[in-house]
Amino acid sequence: MIQLEKLHKYFGQHHVLKGIDLTVQQGKVVAILGPSGSGKSTLLRSINFLEPATSGIIEVQGKRVDVEAASKAEIQALRISTGMVFQQYNLFKNLTVLQNVMIGLTDVKKVNPKEARETSISILEKVGLQDRLHHYPSHLSGGQQQRVGIARALALKPEVLLFDEPTSSLDPELVNEVLMVIQQVAKEGNTMLIVTHELQFAREIADQIVFMEDGRIVETGTAEQIFTNPVQERTRQFVSKAL
Ligand code: ADP
Ligand code: MG
Repeated sequence: MIQLEKLHKYFGQHHVLKGIDLTVQQGKVVAILGPSGSGKSTLLRSINFLEPATSGIIEVQGKRVDVEAASKAEIQALRISTGMVFQQYNLFKNLTVLQNVMIGLTDVKKVNPKEARETSISILEKVGLQDRLHHYPSHLSGGQQQRVGIARALALKPEVLLFDEPTSSLDPELVNEVLMVIQQVAKEGNTMLIVTHELQFAREIADQIVFMEDGRIVETGTAEQIFTNPVQERTRQFVSKAL
């Protein structure tokens, strides 16, 4: 479903992704762990060209893109095939909950407003926000805002969902409601990459764990391997915090 080959990213002289190779099978959930500054966000953002990588290959659902030679059409196709959920929600403050979810459907996918409305309402029901359709983001809790963020991504039915620390901005008592929605989305068979510091959650939800440090994938394996029998000492130290 996703294949990354020799992905490099420089910010000026700063080498932030140092040759990332990663394969993700359809329907799998991959949790990306690692210390702050290791390149996790940059990796996610490079997949949909929010932050274009410097070199390498990105393949999503059979469409191979050489990042150094990517056409506008290829970049647009990658963006449509991926849905992103941000740490800071990134909702439109001047739009209601329903409008925030509908806008991608009407503006990007050119779905007619009636159908967009129906689709959006049913997805908002799924994330438990059916009674908040006409509220503005500022009148919602952080957990509710992030559930809108997830609904917005789901509405576009992307091939891959990318979550960048979806619960890091939330007060502790609001984390669980968002994790439960993410878990539900995972159970529905979506292919997902999740950057998270919620180690226990990663262990429960992920089919595959990727541990990154200093722009490299240090180790990858199943949750059981990574949490109970990591090969690398750095991984061992990092996951020991979860036990
Ligand atoms: P993580 O998400 O693992 O904390 P990031 O991908 O955000 O790490 O950052 C990796 C490195 O790239 C850090 O050293 C960070 O300072 C740097 N970096 C991230 N975004 C930018 C940017 N827009 N411009 C310059 N440097 C950046
Ligand atoms: Mg980050």
